[in-house]
Amino acid sequence: MAFTQDPLPFPKDALESHGMKQETLEFHYGKHHAGYYTNLNKLVEGTELENASLEEVIHKSFGDSSKTGIFNNAAQVWNHTFFWNCLSPNGGGSPTGELAAKIDAAFGSLDKFKEEFSAAAATQFGSGWAWLVDDGGTLKITKTPNAENPLVHGQKPLLTLDVWEHAYYLDYQNARPAFIKNFLDNLVNWDFVAQNLAS
Ligand code: MN
Repeated sequence: MAFTQDPLPFPKDALESHGMKQETLEFHYGKHHAGYYTNLNKLVEGTELENASLEEVIHKSFGDSSKTGIFNNAAQVWNHTFFWNCLSPNGGGSPTGELAAKIDAAFGSLDKFKEEFSAAAATQFGSGWAWLVDDGGTLKITKTPNAENPLVHGQKPLLTLDVWEHAYYLDYQNARPAFIKNFLDNLVNWDFVAQNLAS
């Protein structure tokens, strides 16, 4: 059973006025993310992981030096699907309810959260991801290199930002901080983050 790419949760041009071009999504969703599916399906074909769920593939390949390629492609498939859902044409603003309370409890305020999340995203050297996670009931900010994600550390991902250069180069060239600021101000889908917290 091959893994198949879900459609984006919004049209490719829906974020144009929110700081993410259609062209970015044509490459990022249509080439990069699609490519991880193609590679993953080739790599698991005929192996014991062929019929496993994506999460099982991630857990069973992590840290196994004979399965590095499988892990990298499986995790990148998962991370990007999660990332698309963290974006919304109605994004930005502030979280409410339980999520807002938990952010205040963990970081002091939404502004403090944004500062810490931005610092994590800006200082991930090279390719990787910044995350807001639920770690045993406490919200934490983490960053991971390359394809790694919080699932392999037993944490529940709530929010992510892709800080691979391919995520922002067409919109912001080398200015990763401008991409991060735009994400937090204009794109972040707090409803999705709240759903993850409640799940
Ligand atoms: Mn990416």
